[in-house]
Amino acid sequence: MLEARAAVRNLHAYRPPLAGRVGLRLDFNESTVGCSPRVLARLRSLDSELLARYPEREPVEKDVAAFLGLDPAQVLLTNGVDEAIHLLCCAYLDPGDEALIVVPTFAMYAIFAQAEGARVVEVRAGDNFTFPAQDLLAQLSLRTRLIAVANPNNPTGAAVAGNVLVQIAQAAPQAAVLVDEAYFEFHGETLIDQIPQIENLFVARTFSKAYGLAGLRIGILAGEARQTETVRRVASPYNVNAAALAVLPEALQDQEYVNRYVAQVLSNRDRLQQELGNLGLHYWPSHANFVLVRIGSAHGEFVQELRNRGILVRDRSTDPGCEGCVRLTVGNDGHTEALISALRNVVVQLGLRNGVQV
Ligand code: PMP
Repeated sequence: MLEARAAVRNLHAYRPPLAGRVGLRLDFNESTVGCSPRVLARLRSLDSELLARYPEREPVEKDVAAFLGLDPAQVLLTNGVDEAIHLLCCAYLDPGDEALIVVPTFAMYAIFAQAEGARVVEVRAGDNFTFPAQDLLAQLSLRTRLIAVANPNNPTGAAVAGNVLVQIAQAAPQAAVLVDEAYFEFHGETLIDQIPQIENLFVARTFSKAYGLAGLRIGILAGEARQTETVRRVASPYNVNAAALAVLPEALQDQEYVNRYVAQVLSNRDRLQQELGNLGLHYWPSHANFVLVRIGSAHGEFVQELRNRGILVRDRSTDPGCEGCVRLTVGNDGHTEALISALRNVVVQLGLRNGVQV
């Protein structure tokens, strides 16, 4: 009988819903309004010749590099940040190596690291999900070959200062340090400018969130030129599809659209957080386009009741330290209004206050 490698057999399947997400989707931190009209127009103009040809990544990598203020040799376009994580694991992890992550965090770091046969070392975040810099430094070993940090973090929305991450990268020159800036646009702080100086630092960005292009699957992995060249070796030359490449320059050019959406999300994040406080629910102030809130033992009913009202949110209660927690994506004004009005109803219906049913 055919058997997969032991590392793969032992993986827990990660099963986000792959069908039936009908309603107002506040469950995956996507944009609730979609991409810029200019991007959509470009997409609609594509012809069969473009689709007949294998996609050409290089010219778009030049555009992206210029946008980021980097050299094209420091930029690899990827099939979303998911692929960037996969490629880093493939390039740097041998079986038995250690991958350090801070939990709770995005699931794919552990999955791709384990698939390579690496040992995932989980460092628990501190009180209120603060970044456990000292604990992480204490876990470094000669076998530490990957350190992955989402900044801001998902699902907590917590952020860590860039200088702390630089310190970690410098303390672990034998490890690839991935700073996943999937939510950069909502936070505004980046380590991109450190790329040329720090050989083992990688920064990832995505077009799935603020740009509203999750369906196109496009992300960026930036890293020092020699390291990026190494990672490029394990990527398919055609990893990013032609439609994504064709619209990306337009997406980058229409910053006004992204800025407008981000500004709305930031003001709605404040509004939602204030409302959660008024409702007596505990939440963690967020640096991203979502808010983690503690519902308590009624988390399942809470998610279901919102679903009954046409709103999808994500139950995160099985994440470490997130018992009873649910994550709410923040969208535009109308979508936030709809969420708040449904929340008020559900809180009354379930008799929730401070994470307990009263
Ligand atoms: N990193 C983080 C921290 C995320 O939250 C997500 C999406 N949930 C991703 C990466 C995946 O991004 P992409 O769609 O570019 O693969």
